[in-house]
Amino acid sequence: MEYAENKGIKVISQNSYELESFIQSVAFREKQRCRFCYHDRFNSTAKIAKKGKFDAFSSTLLYSRFQNHDLIRQTGESVGQEQGVPFFYRDFRNGWKEGIEESKRLNMYRQQYCGCIYSEKERFYRTCR
Ligand code: SF4
Repeated sequence: MEYAENKGIKVISQNSYELESFIQSVAFREKQRCRFCYHDRFNSTAKIAKKGKFDAFSSTLLYSRFQNHDLIRQTGESVGQEQGVPFFYRDFRNGWKEGIEESKRLNMYRQQYCGCIYSEKERFYRTCR
């Protein structure tokens, strides 16, 4: 948020995290949780994009080397069609290394897990081994 403010980038953020409903939605299919997560995130974003008459919506997930890139694209395009606002696709992974260097240079918080409690657990056990 501080970075965006310094660069004059307007940000719309969702500050709540619906932990219980997320867990209920992925229970017994935890290995498929990213599929649900992409769809849920994109749906919320696309609705806001549509309401705000934005040209398109996209995702920072397209930058990650750890995400299922093809599934992100497929889900984004499908949600875009459902909601009537285009999904902007670009493969941003070639900026991965530069992004890490830049975030370190700016002393930004760098989260070592994807975002949900399952990914935090995986990171925790990886570092404990
Ligand atoms: S936060 Fe990351 S690891 Fe967790 S479900 Fe979403 S995309 Fe998958």
